[in-house]
Amino acid sequence: MRYMKGRKVLIVEDEKRIARFLQMELEHEGCVAAVEDNGSRACERIAGESYDIVLLDVMLPGMDGFAVCRRVREFSQVPIIMLTARDDIEDKVQGLDIGADDYITKPFATPELLARMRVVLRRQGAGGQGAGGQAMASADGGEVLSVRNLSMYPVRHEVMVGDVPVELTKKEYDLLEYMLRNKRIVLSRDRILSNVWGYEYVGDTNVVDVYIRYLRQKLDDRFGEKYIHTMRGVGYVIKE
Ligand code: CA
Repeated sequence: MRYMKGRKVLIVEDEKRIARFLQMELEHEGCVAAVEDNGSRACERIAGESYDIVLLDVMLPGMDGFAVCRRVREFSQVPIIMLTARDDIEDKVQGLDIGADDYITKPFATPELLARMRVVLRRQGAGGQGAGGQAMASADGGEVLSVRNLSMYPVRHEVMVGDVPVELTKKEYDLLEYMLRNKRIVLSRDRILSNVWGYEYVGDTNVVDVYIRYLRQKLDDRFGEKYIHTMRGVGYVIKE
């Protein structure tokens, strides 16, 4: 499973039930999975943030999956797996033609999707090309997200302050990872919610405050350092 842990996945799918199901399955594998239900917004999100892999449905309202894939390829080599409801050979050929890395026909079994994701990620790891053209860790480690003496090792799913390991729940970890990847950027509650809890999350943004409090107890309070800053009326930021 080492290829999946800590991976950032964008699920572009307008069928809420399927999107939610995929999100839960991927989170179960240790991925950080976000959902987007609109093609053009998916392009914006992929341009604005780096994902390790994109699962892209073909049938989307507005801009369809093929158009999204073509657009994304103009600026990013992020791995893309197309999800198609039609078992149509032409769709498959078209999907690969426009730069998708693989395709899978709906309905599919989760293990099959995970296997294909692993293949794509392994291939990408071997080629050394990271999401969004950014440097990425090899599958064995390498990447470290840090602020002062706090370090996160996404591949090993570990957090250390100095040489003290910190135990975090999955959501606390996801939240910290998102904030570290966007260090020095003030993140609104809505933005945190859609990136850490997923676009489809139904609930209010108080959940963000609650988890920020948990993180502060385990990090700021415990180690006597101020990592997470509140920007009143705006959101939260991790500062150097
Ligand atoms: Ca669809």
